Amino acid sequence: TVTVLALDVKGHLGGVCTTSGLAYKLPGRVGDSPIIGAGLYVDDTAGAAGATGVGEEIIRIGGSLLIVEWMRAGKSPQEACEMACQRVHAAAARRGVHPARVAFLALDPKGNVGAACTAKTNFRYAVGREGKIELLQAKEIPPQP
Ligand code: ASP
Repeated sequence: TVTVLALDVKGHLGGVCTTSGLAYKLPGRVGDSPIIGAGLYVDDTAGAAGATGVGEEIIRIGGSLLIVEWMRAGKSPQEACEMACQRVHAAAARRGVHPARVAFLALDPKGNVGAACTAKTNFRYAVGREGKIELLQAKEIPPQP
C-alpha cells in the first residue's frame, strides 16, 4: 500500500491510498484500502490516518478511524498509531494467533506525524516539510507481555 497524508497551508487535511493487494489473495477479497475507516480516514477536525499490511487485521479493528478518533480525544499521532498496533496484538491474542504485520501512519491538524508497526514489519515512511524530505523508520510495537 502507498498512503499519502497531507496538510495544506489553510489547515485542510487530505489523504489517498493505493494497495498492492495481499499476495496470493483469494479471488473477490476486499482489502482494507477501499474501506473507509480501515485503510484510510481523514477528518479536518481531528486528523488523518492510513494503514498497510494484512488488511483483515486492519479492518477488524477499524484501524484508521480508531487512530483519528484517538487523536480527537487528545492522543498524539504517534501515541494513536502505537495504540492501534496494541489493539491489533490484543485482537490476535484473543484469537490465539500470531500478530499480523501491519503499520499505521497518522497526521494531526497541526502537522504532527506519527507511525508505528507490529514487529518485523520494517515500515519506513517519508515526511516532507518546507522543501525537505526525511526518511524515517516506524517504531516497532511488540505484543504486551
Ligand atoms: N493492506 C493491503 C491488503 O490487505 C496489502 C498492502 O499493504 O498493500 O490488501
